[in-house]
Amino acid sequence: MMMQNIYPSFYKNFKCIANLCEDSCCKDWDIDIDSCTENFYNTVQGSLGDKLHQKLVTDDDGERVFKVENGRCPFWNRDMLCDIFIGIGEEHLSETCAKFPRVKVDYSGFRENLLSFACPEAARLMLASDDSAYADFGSVEKNGADGEDYMSFLLKARSRTAAMLLDREVPFEYRLADCLEFNAQVQAILNGEEPAPLKAGVQNSCRFILDMHTEFEIMSERWREALKCILNNADALEVRPDFARDFEKFALYYIYRYYLEAVNSGDVLYSMKRIVCAYIVTGWLDADFARKGYPLPRMRILQRYSKEVEHSYENTEALNARFDSDPRFSIENLIAMLEDMV
Ligand code: SF4
Repeated sequence: MMMQNIYPSFYKNFKCIANLCEDSCCKDWDIDIDSCTENFYNTVQGSLGDKLHQKLVTDDDGERVFKVENGRCPFWNRDMLCDIFIGIGEEHLSETCAKFPRVKVDYSGFRENLLSFACPEAARLMLASDDSAYADFGSVEKNGADGEDYMSFLLKARSRTAAMLLDREVPFEYRLADCLEFNAQVQAILNGEEPAPLKAGVQNSCRFILDMHTEFEIMSERWREALKCILNNADALEVRPDFARDFEKFALYYIYRYYLEAVNSGDVLYSMKRIVCAYIVTGWLDADFARKGYPLPRMRILQRYSKEVEHSYENTEALNARFDSDPRFSIENLIAMLEDMV
């Protein structure tokens, strides 16, 4: 069967801006090196070859990587260009370097292609996109294969969730609350249960979400400082009214990137709860920067959240574990918290 490839409208407009990038994927992250690339690097001679052999190490998870040094890839030079690209050519970049920020997610019979919000240039494209950017997602034609009903159900539920997020007649916090309530019903159906009305929640403070983020693995000191600052000023902060206009693009990206994980996990609520956490943290960061008189571009706040939290396996696992164990993350309590913010 032919694999159907699906792209958002902005995908093909992406072009890496290299040394003009305000963050760079060569910053903060260890770089995974696949075995094919390692085999080639083992053949490289001269000073670049020596450095490649010396810097390629095995990390704690047994992966072969270039480890960051002072927050930078050891091959990212002072002109903010890549010495491997310059020395032996783009075709010899590792898979990770060559593909980022492009993300492919394969399902039975179709592949969804996305860009990562952790790349500033990709984030800019997503923030500038219109409501039809993901129009082709959900256009998958199913052909009666096993699991068709389950996938069709998830695709329909994802489209409905995305439509709820974009219903601008409704305040954004209510839209998020509606998405949670709707997906609680979806989850009941996935569990083989009868959807039941939700009880009233009792949570009215979102501070615990901010606290939790300070306990996470953090790459950059500036991110740690920014989180501390919003905690210190928590009582004076409110998400700014126009923040949702940008955040809804991040939320859409998140839904198209993660909702269908439920094919394997059987859970649609993890991705929804992670969106709520992202909204609280980035919304308050945006409010705090505005309060201090130097509003950071929202692109940078959302892009940094993606890099610090979304792209960290440890942090994503920590979030999901808290959703499982902490009653403050029940759907009822999150809805009560969101409604209290309006
Ligand atoms: S983060 Fe994006 S724009 Fe920046 S260097 Fe990497 S791929 Fe290029």
